[in-house]
Amino acid sequence: MGVLEDLGIARVINAYGTNTRLSGGLLDPEVTAAMAEASRVTVDMLDLQAAASRTIAGATGAEAGIVTAGASAALLLAAAACLAGLDAAAMNRLPEPRGEDRFGGGGRREIVAIRSQRNMYDRALRVAGARIVEVGIPDRVSGPGVRDAAAWEVEQAIGPRTVAVYWLAQPQSLPTLPEVVAVAHARGVPVIVDAAAQLPPSVNLRRFIAEGADLVCFSGGKAIGGPQASGMLAGRRDLVSSALVQMLDLDLPEAQFAPPPEFAPLAALRGVPHHGIGRSCKVGKEEVVGLLVALRRFVAADADARSAAWTARLHAVMAAAGAVPGVAMELLPDGAKPGLPLLMLRFADAERATDAEARLRQHQPAVHLDASRIAQGILAVNPIAVADGDIALLGAAIAACCAG
Ligand SMILES: *Cc1c(COP(=O)(O)O)cnc(C)c1O
Repeated sequence: MGVLEDLGIARVINAYGTNTRLSGGLLDPEVTAAMAEASRVTVDMLDLQAAASRTIAGATGAEAGIVTAGASAALLLAAAACLAGLDAAAMNRLPEPRGEDRFGGGGRREIVAIRSQRNMYDRALRVAGARIVEVGIPDRVSGPGVRDAAAWEVEQAIGPRTVAVYWLAQPQSLPTLPEVVAVAHARGVPVIVDAAAQLPPSVNLRRFIAEGADLVCFSGGKAIGGPQASGMLAGRRDLVSSALVQMLDLDLPEAQFAPPPEFAPLAALRGVPHHGIGRSCKVGKEEVVGLLVALRRFVAADADARSAAWTARLHAVMAAAGAVPGVAMELLPDGAKPGLPLLMLRFADAERATDAEARLRQHQPAVHLDASRIAQGILAVNPIAVADGDIALLGAAIAACCAG
């Protein structure tokens, strides 16, 4: 911990999850060793992303893939790919779309989004230059009804200016992805899926591609266990290739640009774009290598063994805390993420949970628990980003701060 002391900052115990503001999770030594090794050599980033494409294609079933600087970066690049395709001039103009000026193209910049799936991460689509067109009235969410957007409404929203349909991967998302893919593909429009946090289960690595998605975005710093600033974009080879060249630095004589077979569609470019819209979210070689090693580990790991390790960690926290007056403890499945258990701490009411949560954050080192159910008087211990070496300290902090 020498470097933190040197910088004069304190570490925190993160039992909330892989949240970005708490610096995400912990990297396995195999991942950090690979990143350190990558940091001591220089490579051609095109070759490195070609290797990434082979690994991501193998893990997801997609034609191609690239490592990005996170799922949000993957969304931005996905939109850029759908906006510009393999047109280098269009890439150079983003975030202004084709057709806003004398070059023609009809101002194609719309991405259709289902109103009940809107979220602040979809801003990344607009950053690339897209305009979001909302569809559907989510009665089932607002309460007075049972319906959400229907597939036919998505179909009707697709027009000559549409470049893509956006679908947020959540267990409750409607219409289903196959329904959305069917109407989008009937109109010749690709579907972008935000699956940033949909792991585990690991079957979701393949599911959205298998259901027909053209581009799928995953976070690398969540359950995959990759670097905090990594993610991946998997999907159609032509679109992934377009995304890649809009992130790479291609400031070189055009004759020297030789795309590898993994990104073969780039041979169709009439010219080579300059620094693209994705330059602001470029990924480094250390993150690429770290994510690929983490992805291989995630794919190879046995889901039951991973789940059992998380459960054992929570039992150890419970044992270290002992009986805490006024708090009932119970291990429950996360619900949204199969295989992930949470340790629920139930307080008599929301006020007591709020007081305990504040005391935990004042503790040395500060302890952060999952406070998303605090209105119901519940704080949860999420095991994913807790170091085994911190279990005793975490249990003691819970005992000291939650009794009441
Ligand atoms: C976490 C998350 C993101 C952003 O992922 P990063 O890898 O942190 O960029 C985007 N969309 C959804 C739905 C998320 O949960």
